[in-house]
Amino acid sequence: MDFVPPFCPSSICSAHEKPGRSWFTRDGYYRPKCRRLPVPRFRCRVCGRGFSRQTFRHDYGDHKPHTNAATYLHLVSGVGLRQTARLVGLDVHSVQGKLRKMARTCRRLHDNLCVELRATEYLLDEEETYENASIRTVTMPVVIERETWFVVATTAGPIRRLAKAGSRRRRWQERDEKKNGRRPDASRACVRGALEDLRKRLPEGARIQLHSDLKSSYATLAKSVFGDAVTHLRTPGRAARTTANPLFPINTTLAMTRDNNGRLRRKSWLVSKKAARLVEQMQLFACYRNYVRTRFNRDLPGETPGRLLGLIERNLQAHEVLAWSQRWGRRSIHPTSVDGSRTHDMVAAA
Ligand SMILES: [Zn+2]
Repeated sequence: MDFVPPFCPSSICSAHEKPGRSWFTRDGYYRPKCRRLPVPRFRCRVCGRGFSRQTFRHDYGDHKPHTNAATYLHLVSGVGLRQTARLVGLDVHSVQGKLRKMARTCRRLHDNLCVELRATEYLLDEEETYENASIRTVTMPVVIERETWFVVATTAGPIRRLAKAGSRRRRWQERDEKKNGRRPDASRACVRGALEDLRKRLPEGARIQLHSDLKSSYATLAKSVFGDAVTHLRTPGRAARTTANPLFPINTTLAMTRDNNGRLRRKSWLVSKKAARLVEQMQLFACYRNYVRTRFNRDLPGETPGRLLGLIERNLQAHEVLAWSQRWGRRSIHPTSVDGSRTHDMVAAA
């Protein structure tokens, strides 16, 4: 299908905000080494700027773009960076570079698809992991929707968790802090960040129920972020972890994050060297969980959390998640648009 550019990529051109009729001309093709088919070129008739289909694609400027979808699927299937590199035929630094770029596209895609959540029940919990060494603990708060298990928000940041005074571990921590300074504790800031991420996606005046365990900071943070709009329901973390437990969906989602993201697995060699890299990994995971993977094994294929919430009309394939650059907000090309002619705004208006 012939690519149709939706607007001029130059942000200072009038055909960027309001492309009129026939604002561009076709300007031949070029043949990159990494592609079988030629890439069409265009020229804006308003500002004269030349651009190509690649300007609108996620894989613009990528080496070996044909490995992107496989790289993505390995990274959300519990495979580490090095093994992914071996399997898809890249070196580990290329995989790291691709991970960072994919994380950016996934974060923007999630923001562009998930602008308004109509559901009213959500769950919050934290996963504990570490960066570099097991004494440098990290928290990863996750907020999901109760019915669809849609991952609304994830963050990650350092926490300071001291071992028992006098223990070997505690002495290790003391040596570490002497050398590197006191470990910061961003636990509250991270949880607040995740809750604010949820709040900005709710309609004006929406009332919600929030389920969590008994951690006391959750109550104050929920009040401070949502005010009277939240009913906070708390379940002891030690309650039996059965399907009857109100926290079952978030408990299982956290277990799933450990399974799908190698670096969260316990007793594993794979470790996030930095909490920031874990945030990126989770952006890949959230898109996979929300828009690619079917909610439950018993659901019909294609019933993703995102579709069940009405945020998108169908499930996505990995190559569609990574198809179009999402850097223009809701004016970016919608992931289901094959020829590039439909933006998020246009799909919503249709
Ligand atoms: Zn232009």
